Amino acid sequence: MIPITSVHFGKAEEDLVLEVLRSGSIAQGPMVKRLEDTFAEKFGLKHAIAVNNGTTALVAALEVLDLKPGDEVITSPFTFVATLNAIIESGATATFADIREDDFNLDPESVATLIGPNTKVILPVHLYGQMADMDPLVALAGQYGLRILEDSAQSHGASYARTHAGGFGLGTFSFYATKNITTGEGGLITTDDDVLADRLRVLRNQGMRERYVYEIAGHNYRLTDLQAALAIPQLENYDEVVERRRVNAAKLNVGLKDLPGIVVPVEMPGRTHVWHQFTIRVTEDAAVGRDQFVASLLKRGIGAGVYYPHLLFDYDAYRDHPLVKVTGTPVAARVATQVVSLPVHTALSDGDIDEIIAVVAAVAMGN
Ligand SMILES: *Cc1c(COP(=O)(O)O)cnc(C)c1O
Repeated sequence: MIPITSVHFGKAEEDLVLEVLRSGSIAQGPMVKRLEDTFAEKFGLKHAIAVNNGTTALVAALEVLDLKPGDEVITSPFTFVATLNAIIESGATATFADIREDDFNLDPESVATLIGPNTKVILPVHLYGQMADMDPLVALAGQYGLRILEDSAQSHGASYARTHAGGFGLGTFSFYATKNITTGEGGLITTDDDVLADRLRVLRNQGMRERYVYEIAGHNYRLTDLQAALAIPQLENYDEVVERRRVNAAKLNVGLKDLPGIVVPVEMPGRTHVWHQFTIRVTEDAAVGRDQFVASLLKRGIGAGVYYPHLLFDYDAYRDHPLVKVTGTPVAARVATQVVSLPVHTALSDGDIDEIIAVVAAVAMGN
C-alpha cells in the first residue's frame, strides 16, 4: 500500500526533543518562543503566537475580533469541520460563499453577494496547500470595513503575490499529525497587529499577564516546549520538503493530465502551492463514479482520500443549527462529489509515482 500520508522525523528532531526532556521543563517556555520567532521570520510575518491546536487558533483569533451575536462570518462550505466549529464557538453566525473549481477556494464574486449589514469577517480557507484569491477579498474587506482571517491550517509557507499565508492581517495554522509541519497536535496564530498579538498571548495563558494578574477571562491554549522542539527542525528543513512535494506534484500532473474524466490540480499564476494534498477531480467522463474510483484505488494499493465528501452544512448537526445560515453553493456541491486526493508526500519514490499514475489511468479507463 502506498499511504496517503507519511510522517518522518530525523536526528535533528530527536536531538532537540531530547534537549527539552533533559532540561526538565517541558511546558511552554523558550522552545515555544523560538518556534514563534522562526516561523514569523521564515514567512515574513510580524507576530506568531503558538497554541495547542489549529482549532483553538481559530477560536482565539475570532475571539479577539470581538464578534457579537448576529455578526456574520463568511467562509467556505468545502473545508474541514474545525473552521465551522470555531465560528460557532465564537457565537457569530456562519454563512457560506461558493468556491471556484480551479483552486477549490472561496470565490470572491460569491463572497460579494453575501456581504450585508451584519457581515464582520471574511474567513478564506487556503485548501490543500494553495491560497485563496486574496486581492479581491482584501478589496472587499477594505470596501466594507471587514476583517480577514485566513484559515491556513493546510498551507504553511504558501504564498500569494509574495505574501505568505497568514500575512493578510490575521491567520491560523495547524500542526496536526497529517499537516505539512506537525507536532502531533499544535497550532499557531499570525498577525501584523501589535494589539491583537498582545491580547492573543494573554488569552492563551488564562488571561494572565503576570502571575495571578488576570486581565481578561482566558483559556489554556498553550503549546509545550516538547512539541515546539519537534517543529523547529521541520521548519528549518521546510523548503526541501516543499520542493519534494512540488516535484512529486509536477510528475503526477504530467502523468495524469490527459486521462479521460480526470482534471488535475493547478497552481494558479502568482501563487506558490505547497501541495498539502494533490487533489484531482473525477468527472462524468471517467469510466466509474468517484466513490467506486476511490474503492478501486484502495483495492489496488493506492492510498486515496476524499477531502471532503460533504459540504459542512450538509450534516444533521449543522443543517438546522441556529448559528449556521445555509446558502446555495452549486460549485462546491458538485466539487464535493468529484474530489480524490492522491499521495504526494516526501516518502514517495519515482516507482511509487509511476505506480500511482498507472493505477489511476487504469481505473479512469475502466480497466
Ligand atoms: C486541520 C485543520 C484545522 C484544525 O486544525 P487542528 O489542529 O486539527 O485543530 C482547521 N482548518 C482546516 C482547514 C484544517 O485542515
